[in-house]
Amino acid sequence: MARPVQYNEKVKSVAVPEGYSGEGFFATTFDQVIGLARKNSIWPLPFATSCCGIEFMATMASTYDMSRFGSERMAFTPRQCDLLMVMGTISKKMAPVLRQVYLQMAEPRWVVAVGACASSGGVFDTYSVLQGIDQVIPVDVYVPGCPPRPEAIIDGFMRVQDLVGQESLRRRHSDKYKELLNSYGIQ
Ligand code: SF4
Repeated sequence: MARPVQYNEKVKSVAVPEGYSGEGFFATTFDQVIGLARKNSIWPLPFATSCCGIEFMATMASTYDMSRFGSERMAFTPRQCDLLMVMGTISKKMAPVLRQVYLQMAEPRWVVAVGACASSGGVFDTYSVLQGIDQVIPVDVYVPGCPPRPEAIIDGFMRVQDLVGQESLRRRHSDKYKELLNSYGIQ
């Protein structure tokens, strides 16, 4: 006897952007459509150096499962990723490597500093530790905690999604953005 077909009735679709609808059509802005697609298909590049990286592993595992947000695909190839997630203590010796990875990512790219060490050096106020990755690359979202729990990492990720969804397509070509990159010595 054939097994009865079961449908998952708990599937939710993303919110429809603002626009105009009529019989057989829906019109909205290009910015919103691109934003909707980008925010729900972010490909993260985990740059993990210490304990916060372990917390990130839990975030990706089955209990928290960040793939629910369209981020199934982790990659360690900067050119295929659009979100750099920095987790852990970054030594001054490691800073040029981090910066190089950021430079190898294509625009548009976003950065999240996960945990106290990546955000501010954390408890390691020493000669060898970078006192926050924003000294070498621009950061979009900071996640506090030592370490932040997976819920906090997911919350930081969702704040990035908000930024991605609302970003104007013109932002990356604006003078303000170029000014920001120039302040980091990036052309
Ligand atoms: S913030 Fe705390 S848990 Fe995270 S890397 Fe630094 S010392 Fe480790």
